[in-house]
Amino acid sequence: MERVIVLDSYVLSDDILEKYVLLMRRFKPEIVRGYASSVYMVAKYILEKGFDDYLHPKAVITSAESLLDVYRHTIERAFGCEVFDYYGSREVGAIAAECEEHCGYHISAENVVLEFVREGEHVSSGESGEILITNLRNFGMPFIRYAIGDVGKPSDEVCACGRGLPLMKSIEGRVSQFMAVYDKKLGRVIPVSTAAPGLFSGVLMHLPIEEFRIIQESLNKVIIKAVKGRGYSEEHTKFLINHIRKYLGDNIIIEIEFVDYLPPLPSGKRTVFISNVNPFQ
Ligand SMILES: [Zn+2]
Repeated sequence: MERVIVLDSYVLSDDILEKYVLLMRRFKPEIVRGYASSVYMVAKYILEKGFDDYLHPKAVITSAESLLDVYRHTIERAFGCEVFDYYGSREVGAIAAECEEHCGYHISAENVVLEFVREGEHVSSGESGEILITNLRNFGMPFIRYAIGDVGKPSDEVCACGRGLPLMKSIEGRVSQFMAVYDKKLGRVIPVSTAAPGLFSGVLMHLPIEEFRIIQESLNKVIIKAVKGRGYSEEHTKFLINHIRKYLGDNIIIEIEFVDYLPPLPSGKRTVFISNVNPFQ
């Protein structure tokens, strides 16, 4: 029989994290699998409390959200093993997964056909496109060119591992994680990934902020909801606003709203960016 414990990641307070880490130390899982941000929170807790000598699973498998670099590095340090990112969905099952080369995701071509499109056209290798999925196995409920709501970059490279399955370079996140930014030079709206290290995540993670959520209300308005950490000052707010302006231009209204707690979304995910504007259509 499979030995599995399932830990709910809806609320991850320090008390619950402690309980989970103690449970995992007793259980000694061979594989740890979970939402990227939830596993990251457990990993951060393990490192903070010095529990990193106890848990050495064979691998950590993350899914369901963009695996930011900081997530990957923290999880690898805390668990002492490699992280493999997996891309799948409830509707169609396995879509793509990393191999030991970590040079992209092998598409489960026996299960799905993936297309990457922008404004109705296939994008070239290495460009961001909205993912359309055709499922090859589900005859009861066909999904044909189904817009699953994710963005990815196709790749025409061949992986050194020797697997023949085609590669996608990266999963860029949900369509809704892309900001619509008006590019003055081009004279049109372009998609900008909020997971790109320079724009939000990299900067916000180095400020004394516990948690944050960024909401693009309209083409020219962004709201940042944040939980202040120890040592946060007005200077940090000024720095943040100036930094975002550098990327998004002067015409954007940036509001920062401080809260005591950010509840996870109804799905349990903790996506850091939510947008009401789709730059791919
Ligand atoms: Zn490979």
